[in-house]
Amino acid sequence: MRTLLYSSQAYDRDSFLATPNDGGIELYFQPARLTLDTVALTDGYPVICAFINDDLSTPVLERLAAGGTRLVALRSAGFNHVDLPAARRLGLTVVRVPAYSPHAVAEHAVALILSLNRHLHRAYNRTRDGDFTLHGLTGFDLVGKTVGVVGTGQIGAAFARIMAGFGCRLLAYDPYPNPDVLALGGRYLPLEQVLSQAQIVSLHCPLNDDTRHLINADSLSRMPRGAMLINTGRGALVDTPALVDALKTGQLGYLGLDVYEEEAQLFFEDRSDLPLQDDVLARLLTFPNVVITAHQAFLTHEALGAIAQTTLENIRQWAAGTPRNLV
Ligand code: NAD
Repeated sequence: MRTLLYSSQAYDRDSFLATPNDGGIELYFQPARLTLDTVALTDGYPVICAFINDDLSTPVLERLAAGGTRLVALRSAGFNHVDLPAARRLGLTVVRVPAYSPHAVAEHAVALILSLNRHLHRAYNRTRDGDFTLHGLTGFDLVGKTVGVVGTGQIGAAFARIMAGFGCRLLAYDPYPNPDVLALGGRYLPLEQVLSQAQIVSLHCPLNDDTRHLINADSLSRMPRGAMLINTGRGALVDTPALVDALKTGQLGYLGLDVYEEEAQLFFEDRSDLPLQDDVLARLLTFPNVVITAHQAFLTHEALGAIAQTTLENIRQWAAGTPRNLV
C-alpha cells in the first residue's frame, strides 16, 4: 500500500521507520506541505498521510480523488482543516489519531506557564549575555491561583491534574463536564465566569464554528487585569489582533501560544533568513511577556511513537476493510 506522508520532517521519518510495519505499507516521505501546487505528487498513491497544516480543502480533495487516492490518514487528532462533506461526496475515507499523548500537550502548556511566570525566556538570554541582575524577573506563586480550563477532554483533564498538583483552584468550561476534573475539585461554570475569575486561562477545546475566536476583544476585557492566556489548542480559537491590543494596555499580562491562526505558511519551516511578513506575529514577538512556540506541544518521543503506531494500524485496518478512527 503506497503511502505518501506530506509535511514529513526528520522526526516523522525516524518515528515511522522505528515502528513495526507488518501491513505491507510502503512509506514515502515528502517534506512539502500538501497544497493545490503539490497535490499532483499524490498520483498513484492510494493513501496519503497529512498533518495539521496540510490543505485538505475541497479543490485539493477533488484533485486527490481524481488522482486515485482513497484514504486520507491524518497524523493528528484535530480535523478542522479537512472539508469533511467534500471528502464524503468524493468517496475519500478520512481517519485520524484520536489520542496519542495528551500529556505531551498538557505538559507543554504548563511549560509555557512556568516560562512566562518565572520569566525563564528572559533569564536565559540575560545570563548568557553575562547579565546576572534580577530586575523585571519577579514571578508569582502558582499555589492558590485560579486556573480556567476551557475544554476538559483528554488534554484539558491532564492539564487540570498537573495544575491541581501545584495547588491551584480549578474552574472549567466544557459542554460535557469530565468526572475526572470534578474529582480534582474542578468547578464547571459558564465561560464568561471562568474568564472573569481565572488568573490563568488555558484553551484545550477543538476548533469549530462555536469556538472560532472564542477569545476576542470582548472576552479579553472580561478577564482580570494582568491575567495569563495559554493557547495550545488551535490558533483560530483566538482573535490574534485583539491580543496585541490587550497586551499593549496591560489588560493581558502574559501570553503563551503554541498555535497561531496564520501558522500554516510559517510553522515547521526555517524562515530565519527572510523578513517576517506577518505584522501581527511580528508585533507579538516584541512583547517581553509573550512566549511563542511553533506548534511543538505534541513533539515528544512518546507522542511521535504513538502517532506512527496508530497511523500504520489505521491504514492496515482500512486496507483490510475494517476502517477505524474514522472522522
Ligand atoms: P478531546 O476531544 O479529548 O477534548 C476536547 C474537549 O473540548 C471535549 O471535552 C469537548 O466536550 C470540549 N469542547 C467541545 N466544544 C467546546 C466548547 N465550545 N467549549 C469548551 N469545550 C468544548 O480532545 P483533546 O485530545 O483533549 O484535544 C483538544 C484539542 O487540542 C484538539 O482539538 C486540538 O485542536 C488541540 N491539540 C493541539 C496539539 C498541539 O500540538 N498544540 C496537539 C494535539 C491536540
